[in-house]
Amino acid sequence: MGELFHVGQCPGCRQGWLILQRNLSSGDIYAHCEECETGFITPDDLLWPLNGFLTVLEEYDYETENPDKEEISRTVWANFIVKKVPVE
Ligand SMILES: [Zn+2]
Repeated sequence: MGELFHVGQCPGCRQGWLILQRNLSSGDIYAHCEECETGFITPDDLLWPLNGFLTVLEEYDYETENPDKEEISRTVWANFIVKKVPVE
């Protein structure tokens, strides 16, 4: 049981929500689009020109988990949460 933290709509595909995920290899918390699989490391990366990376590439083969609010509050994403969604 936990929560997913959304930080808005994906500026790349304009369809998916950006969900905060923790990269367990680097410890980075980044926004991940569930539709086009693009990742954004910082909120600035969401502004044009977009600075996303394709999370499905092999070089980004890492485990992720859903960060909790405490973890997010220590990152650049702290003020960008627009929606919380409970998950099992
Ligand atoms: Zn997208």
